[in-house]
Amino acid sequence: MNIRLGDCSKGNASCIECMILFKPVLLGYPFILLAIYIIPFLIFYTMYRIFVKCTYLCGVILKINSYMSNRTFTMIKPDAVRAGNIGNILQMINAGGFRIVAMKYTRLTLDQAGKFYEVHKERTFYGELTEFMSSGPIVAAILEKDNAVADFRTLIGATNPAQAAEGTIRKKYAASIGENAVHGSDSDDNAKIEADFFFNGLERF
Ligand code: GDP
Repeated sequence: MNIRLGDCSKGNASCIECMILFKPVLLGYPFILLAIYIIPFLIFYTMYRIFVKCTYLCGVILKINSYMSNRTFTMIKPDAVRAGNIGNILQMINAGGFRIVAMKYTRLTLDQAGKFYEVHKERTFYGELTEFMSSGPIVAAILEKDNAVADFRTLIGATNPAQAAEGTIRKKYAASIGENAVHGSDSDDNAKIEADFFFNGLERF
């Protein structure tokens, strides 16, 4: 082919100017532009949106998780209230690094105590437990701290005060396995259920 250098502008097949400019522009460039810029841009933009959405969702999930694992629920039981130990126990809770999010001085009916301890319905001590828990006022509270559930279980000690470690609340203030001064949630899920049993959203700070 006898190629000439840019002396026409009519798409002449033998004109190098036509070959470089007009033909690709008219036929090839839109597809090349599409392939090189637009499609990757669309892919990148879509992935970016998915990433942003995922990050947002992960943030929400992490926030919910951290909310739950930072809080626990407690009750100062009727025996400790009767013995005048509300102040002493609250002082230990504060000294343990817990922040009080909500607190209530109240008394459970037998029916409410039964519902709260429903998980123990089949246990032999269920009747004794619900009667004891409804026998006088209690202090219910939501507590906040990193690793709240586990740290509070450590602070209160074993269910049976005879086996509780020295310096724990139950070791100091509980008399027996049944009348053991304080309750502490045993999991994040139960902490939420138990907190919701006593407090609505307007009662938490
Ligand atoms: P906690 O998580 O350490 O409070 O222990 P559990 O969840 O096992 O039991 C709930 C509550 O039931 C205890 O805190 C006690 O008040 C009571 N309880 C547990 N075991 C016995 C028992 O053998 N006899 C009686 N009377 N009460 C018990």
